[in-house]
Amino acid sequence: MRFFLLTGLMFALMALALVTWPSVRAFAADPPPITTIAPPELSMDDVLHFSEADWKKRLTPEQFQVLRRQGTEPAFCGGYSATKTHGPGTYHCVGCGAELFTSTTKFDSGSGWPSFFQPISGKVGEEVDNAHGMERTEVHCARCHGHLGHVFNDGPAPTRLRYCINAVTLSFVSTPATESKKD
Ligand SMILES: [Zn+2]
Repeated sequence: MRFFLLTGLMFALMALALVTWPSVRAFAADPPPITTIAPPELSMDDVLHFSEADWKKRLTPEQFQVLRRQGTEPAFCGGYSATKTHGPGTYHCVGCGAELFTSTTKFDSGSGWPSFFQPISGKVGEEVDNAHGMERTEVHCARCHGHLGHVFNDGPAPTRLRYCINAVTLSFVSTPATESKKD
């Protein structure tokens, strides 16, 4: 009898934990999709006229929290962190569809967040970020200004930079085998 009570209590606690940590649950239960179809692309004009309410409608709560509120997803929860496992392809901004990074610049940093040593030229903007008592360089999508993560000076050659990106902001589009052979 005591065994059943204890087991029941454990399940109740686990259920409570899942309910009270909605963000962790959402990230853990929702691995990013791998697709060959690029996300719908917004023009610069669309993006300029988007209100907060428009972004809220367009994004999931986790995407909104990171892209529009400078949030950070928990490490190892968002997927895309292991190197090269998705094959050749392009990482797009989930906010506006812009191409941000290619798989050829991705590396395994061990940080639990997808890491790149270089963005696609002109696609990622930078800003000094003094939040949380640290001086860091914030990086964002140059088109929709959605927050992506930070860039650090401890990356690999050739740039020695590490773009540490929230997986929830990225949509990976794999390159069809026929196209990748041409590279
Ligand atoms: Zn964007």
